[in-house]
Amino acid sequence: MSQKPPPKQFVKTPINGTKSVILVSSAKGGVGKSTVAVNLAFALQNLGLKIGILDADVYGPSLPKLINLNEKPKSQDGKAIIPLEKYHVQCMSMGFLVDEETPMIWRGPMVISAIKTMTQNVLWKDRDVIIVDMPPGTGDTQLTFAQQVKVDGAVIVSTPQDLALLDVKRGIQMFDKTGVKILGLIDNMSYFKGDDGKNYKIFGDSGVEKTAKEFDKKFLGHLPIHQDLRSSSDKGCPLTYSDPEHEVSKLFLDIAKKINQFLN
Ligand code: ADP
Repeated sequence: MSQKPPPKQFVKTPINGTKSVILVSSAKGGVGKSTVAVNLAFALQNLGLKIGILDADVYGPSLPKLINLNEKPKSQDGKAIIPLEKYHVQCMSMGFLVDEETPMIWRGPMVISAIKTMTQNVLWKDRDVIIVDMPPGTGDTQLTFAQQVKVDGAVIVSTPQDLALLDVKRGIQMFDKTGVKILGLIDNMSYFKGDDGKNYKIFGDSGVEKTAKEFDKKFLGHLPIHQDLRSSSDKGCPLTYSDPEHEVSKLFLDIAKKINQFLN
């Protein structure tokens, strides 16, 4: 009788120059994942940690815009890339290497190779955490990180409406199947506070929190729809860096504290 082959063991390579790696993921695009990833990174910096941000969205990099940085990283030997630095954070994005308007028409193997370059050939130095802004979905990048990179955990960002939550469930299952620890779920665009002081739940009520319960995952917090979060992103200076005392920055800080507990 033929025997089932043993499951393939993947060699997970650590990212050098950092103590921890956290993926910020969303199963669906447009839920504010990059905004949350970058503001969370600066909230962790506000806790005294040394941060790196790796923008792993090869097809649609957001980091250059979110921190208003568009320089070409340098390399001394033509191989190892020196990450750029902005607001005391080390940064790497495919967006630094290609022209903003050039579409990335790449097949899977090229994406995998780009991820390998950004995780193995970047000279990250002396970091406590690298926050990885993942592309949306459950594709090649997710699989490459899950199988080939040593990561400490993933945070999933969603908005609370049913359509987004369906994808979140897929995202949870993907990380569970590939053995990446899910640190928790974040509910972005949870509510809008009107001039009358009332909270309006535009995308529905507590959907992300309920999904976290259903899958026995931690719920990390609600973030409101706030114009200052949007406008600071558009200006290229994240709110948690430019105004750490802002009410929304304080919510990010609470989430950062919960994530920091996993790191210690
Ligand atoms: P994703 O990475 O999921 O595609 P982005 O982070 O690019 O999403 O966000 C999409 C848009 O929504 C951006 O214009 C961003 O500024 C805005 N945005 C994200 N989260 C919020 C929020 N909580 N409040 C206000 N605007 C937000």
